[in-house]
Amino acid sequence: MALFVDVILPLPLDSLFTYTVQDNPDDVKQGCRVIVQFGKRKYYTAIVVNVYEGEPKEGIKEIISVLDREPIVFSTQLEFWNWVSSYYMCSIGDVYKAALPSALKLESETLIAKIDGFEKKSEFTPTELKVYYALPDNEAVKISELEKQLKISNIIPYVKSLVDKGAIEISEDIRNNYISKKRNVISLAKDFSERELHLFIDILQRAKKQQQLLMEFLRIREEASDIKLFSIDKKELSDKTGIASAIIDALVDRKILKQTQEEISRFNYGQANPEASNTLNAHQQEAYNKIQSLFNNKSVVLLHGVTSSGKTEIYIRMIAEAIARGQQVLYLLPEIALTTQITERLKSVFGNKLSVYHSKFNDNERAETWTTLVSQGEGRVVLGARSAIFLPFSDLSLIIVDEEHESSYKQQDPAPRYNARNAAIVLANIHKCKVLLGTATPSVETYYNARNGKFGLVTLTKRHDEIELPEIVPVNTKELKRRKQMKSVLSPPLIDKMKIAFSDGKQAILFQNRRGFAPLIECKVCSWTKYCDHCDVSLTYHKGQGVMVCHYCGATYRIPDVCPNCETPTLDVVGYGTERIAEEVGEVFPDASIARMDLDTTRTKRAYEHIISDFESGKTNVLIGTQMVSKGLDFDNVTVVGILNADGLLNYPDFRAHEKAFQLMTQVSGRAGRKNARGLVLLQTANPQHPIIKDVVNNDYENFYDTQIAERQLFRYPPFYRLISVVLKARDERVLEEASRHFAQILRESFGENVLGPTKPPVARVQSLYIRNILLKVEIQASPQKVRDAIKYYKEYLFSQPDFKSVLIQFDVDPLV
Ligand code: ADP
Ligand code: ZN
Ligand code: ZN
Repeated sequence: MALFVDVILPLPLDSLFTYTVQDNPDDVKQGCRVIVQFGKRKYYTAIVVNVYEGEPKEGIKEIISVLDREPIVFSTQLEFWNWVSSYYMCSIGDVYKAALPSALKLESETLIAKIDGFEKKSEFTPTELKVYYALPDNEAVKISELEKQLKISNIIPYVKSLVDKGAIEISEDIRNNYISKKRNVISLAKDFSERELHLFIDILQRAKKQQQLLMEFLRIREEASDIKLFSIDKKELSDKTGIASAIIDALVDRKILKQTQEEISRFNYGQANPEASNTLNAHQQEAYNKIQSLFNNKSVVLLHGVTSSGKTEIYIRMIAEAIARGQQVLYLLPEIALTTQITERLKSVFGNKLSVYHSKFNDNERAETWTTLVSQGEGRVVLGARSAIFLPFSDLSLIIVDEEHESSYKQQDPAPRYNARNAAIVLANIHKCKVLLGTATPSVETYYNARNGKFGLVTLTKRHDEIELPEIVPVNTKELKRRKQMKSVLSPPLIDKMKIAFSDGKQAILFQNRRGFAPLIECKVCSWTKYCDHCDVSLTYHKGQGVMVCHYCGATYRIPDVCPNCETPTLDVVGYGTERIAEEVGEVFPDASIARMDLDTTRTKRAYEHIISDFESGKTNVLIGTQMVSKGLDFDNVTVVGILNADGLLNYPDFRAHEKAFQLMTQVSGRAGRKNARGLVLLQTANPQHPIIKDVVNNDYENFYDTQIAERQLFRYPPFYRLISVVLKARDERVLEEASRHFAQILRESFGENVLGPTKPPVARVQSLYIRNILLKVEIQASPQKVRDAIKYYKEYLFSQPDFKSVLIQFDVDPLV
C-alpha cells in the first residue's frame, strides 16, 4: 500500500492534486503544509486536504517535504474555502491564495531577505548556514534564484526553517516600517561585585575602547531603577556611546558582558483591563438585552443605531463576555482608517487578547497573527478588514460586522470576488455562532431581511448623552452661482460656519468624493482633453506630483505646455478633487492647519495613524477627505461638516447610486457633534429638492428604504433577484464583441429575458483590455448552484472555440458595481 495526499495549490486551478508520501507518513495531516513540485522546476507550498492509502500508482510525484507537524489550516476553514469557491465561482486555489499570508506559503517566486542583527547562527544546520550566507546583505532575492546559485534542488524547507528561527523574512514593500522580531540585549555576565568591576576596568587599560565602553555601560546602569536586573538593547548601547558593536562583542568574549536574545512580539497591546470599558447607558443596555434575546432564535441580528449612539460600546460588552468564556470574536470593519481608531479603544480594554489583521500589515506580521491564533487562540478578539474572515478560528462565538452597508466589504479584484459581510454569515453558520450587523444606514438588502424576519432587528435612535443628531442644512449652489456668490468651492455660509468653528477652537470635516487636484484638464479653446493610452478614461490632474494620473491603471503623464491639438497655451483645470480643495481652504483660511485623507495620503499604516492622531489632538483644524472620512470615525471636537458636492454622488448610472449617496451623506454628517453639543452639516447641492437630499436632511431612513425597495421590486433587482455579472475582456475588440454576443446568446437560451447585454461599461477599456458586461438576473427561488453550473458549462463551450481562446472571462456574483 502507498500513502497519498490530495493538496490545494496556490494557483488558479479548480481541482486538487495528488502526491505520494514516502518518509514519515505519520506526520502528514489534513491542514498541514507540504512542499510539492508542480510544472517544470517550480515549487509551491500546498495545503493537504485528504490523506489516504491506496494501491501504488505510476506517474504520481512524491511530496518534497512536510512543513508542519500540526495543522495550520482547520477543517472548518477548508469547508469555508469550498463554499467561497463554489458560491463566488472561482477556483479553490484562488481562495487559498487570498486566505494565507504570503509568509506562510513560500514558493519559488517568493522574495526573501536577511534580518539585521540575527546572532544565533550556531543553531543552524549546515545547509541552513549555506543558504543564510548565500543571501546578500540589504537586498531581497527570489527563492528560485538562490536555488540556482546554490545548486540545491529545493531549498524552501530550509528557508521556512530560517524564517521560523527569525533569521530571514519575506521581503516586503519597503514603505512598511518593519519591526524586527528578535533583539539583542546586553547585561553584565554575572552579578559582579564593585571590586571586581574596578579590577576589569584596570585590566582593560591596554584596550582603551573596551574600557571606555565598560565605563559608559556602568554609568548608564547607575541610572537604571533596578541595577541588578539592568540590561540594554545592543544597538541602543552602541548608539548611546558611539562605540561600535564589535567592541561590545569583545567584552562579551571576555565574559564581562553577556548577550542574550529577546523575542519581541510584533504586537504588544499590553495587559487586558476590563475596567477600562464604559458602562452602557440605558438605551444601550436595552438594545443589548434585546440582541441577546433575539439571538435565542435568530443567527443574525441587525443593530440599526444612529451615528454616535454607542454601537461600539455594545460590541465591546459582547466581546468581553466571549473572551471571559474563553471564546473568540471576529470584529470586521470595512476600512483601515477605522481600524486605527477602534484598535485604540479595544486595546485599552482587551490588551494582548486583541489581534489586528489587515492588508497594511506586512506579511510577516500577518503570519504572526495567523500562527498566534492557531497556537494561542483561546479567548481572543480579532479586529480586521475583510480578509480576516479567512483566519484560523477554532472557537468562534460571535462575528460583528460593523458598518455592514459598506461596499468595501466586497473584494473586486482579484478573485475570489467575495463579500465579507455575506461570507461572514456563512462562516458563522459553519461555526454555529452568531452574527451582529451594525450600522446607522443599513443596506437595502439587509434591512429587507430584517423587516421580513429573517434577521432580528434592534434599533437605537438616541445618540449617547442625548446629544441631538446634527442639523443638516442644504446650501443651494445653483442659486448662489446665479447671484455670483460662489467665489470658490466653499459656499459663503460654509465659510462663515468654519470661521466660527475655528475661532471657538473647534474643527471641521470637508467631504469630496474625488482625489487628486482636478478630475480634468481641458483646452479652453478646442475642449481637448487627455485620455489614458491604455484605458478609455480621462486623466486626473495631481498638482503635488505635477502629473496627470489614470485612476484605473495608475499610468502617469506629463502635462503639456500648450494644447497638443490647437497649440494654444489655454489648458485649464476643471472640477475639484481633495487636493484642490485643500489649496482653496488654505487660501480662505491661511492660518488653518489642513490635513487630507484619501488614497494618495494613506499609503501606509503609519500615514493613517498620523492623520487621525493629529486630528484627534487638535493639531489639524480641518480634515478634507474622500469617503474615507465618512466611515465610523469618532472625533470629539468636530462641529461643522461640509458636503461639497452632493450632486456628484447622485448622478451615477447604477441602481445603487441613490442608496450609496444616502449612506455616504448620512455617515459623513454623523461625524459632526458627537460630543458636548449638536453639530451642523452644510450640504452643497444644485438640487435641494431631490428626494434623497430630503431624506438625508430629515434623517428619514424609513422613507428612503421604502422608495428604494419599491424601485428594486419594479426593476427586478436585489433582494428580489440575484445578480451575476459576467465580465469579458480581450485585446482585440472585434473578437471580444463576437465572443460577448455569442455568450449572451447561449445564456439567453437557458435564462431568456433575464440576460442583459452585452453592454459597454462606462470605462470600456482598462490596461489595454476591452471590456464587455453581461448581467444575469436570477430569480431568488432558482437554485443558484444550477445556474452557476450552467454558466460554467457554457464558458467551457465558449473556450472550446479556437477564435475565442484569447478572451478572458470573469464572474462576479452579487456584484456591487
Ligand atoms: P457609534 O459606533 O454608534 O457611532 P460610538 O460607539 O463610537 O458610536 O460612540 C460615540 C461616542 O460616545 C464615543 O466617543 C464613545 O466613547 C461615547 N460613548 C458611547 N456610549 C458611551 C457610554 N455608555 N459611556 C461613555 N461613553 C460612551
Ligand atoms: Zn489607464
Ligand atoms: Zn486646444
